[in-house]
Amino acid sequence: MTEPRRTELRANLATVRHRIEVACAAAGRDPHGVSLVAVTKTWPASDVRLLAELGVTDVGENRDQEARPKHVACADLGLRWHFVGRLQRNKSGSVATYADVVHSVDRQPLVTALDRAAGDAGRVVTALIQVSLDATAGPARGGARPDLVDDLAAQVAAAGSLRLGGVMAVAPLDADPDTAFARLAEVAARLRDSHPEAVAISAGMSGDLEPAVRHGATHLRIGTALLGHRESPVR
Ligand SMILES: *Cc1c(COP(=O)(O)O)cnc(C)c1O
Repeated sequence: MTEPRRTELRANLATVRHRIEVACAAAGRDPHGVSLVAVTKTWPASDVRLLAELGVTDVGENRDQEARPKHVACADLGLRWHFVGRLQRNKSGSVATYADVVHSVDRQPLVTALDRAAGDAGRVVTALIQVSLDATAGPARGGARPDLVDDLAAQVAAAGSLRLGGVMAVAPLDADPDTAFARLAEVAARLRDSHPEAVAISAGMSGDLEPAVRHGATHLRIGTALLGHRESPVR
């Protein structure tokens, strides 16, 4: 079974890389400034291994229960692990042991818990502030209101075991992604005024990577376009 899957993943990866190159060319950007994070949630560790063999360096997961064993199974691959899902405070202790980047930092108690957990693990974890671009969404979808980003960023920057990396967002389902990502770019620019090192903009998924690249995304979180449709929708 490995060989056909490898062929499928190789073709999907080529298609995604091509989309990124075309989007970068259209935006006058260098493709090296855009990192591909393969979101492997619901897919087995064997797929992570195949992707690593095909040159993928960054993988993303959204549930600790799934990410933790997968990280153990793939520990020899030297991958960078991104936690992109809603993070419960009581999972920070686990996530901080393997995640290199947490994209979903959106509230003060989580900053405190994650900082302590990373410190206990003897690690420094990069934190992205997740921004809510959906004025009507409740807290269930995650993300801090844009006006709260500065305070959260200051708290992350002051945390000894966290490194402020930048911002992350998911485009609202029923909104124009160009409008949403333009808004995110404004929030990111304001953040860089006070924290010049916080250059990451994690935006763009399988369906909207082009508008994300147009608006300065540095990290694309791509699941379906690389791995196929997930059996059951996970978030
Ligand atoms: C699942 C997920 C993705 C990937 O979405 P696709 O549409 O499958 O590319 C990206 N970001 C987050 C936060 C996710 O949960």
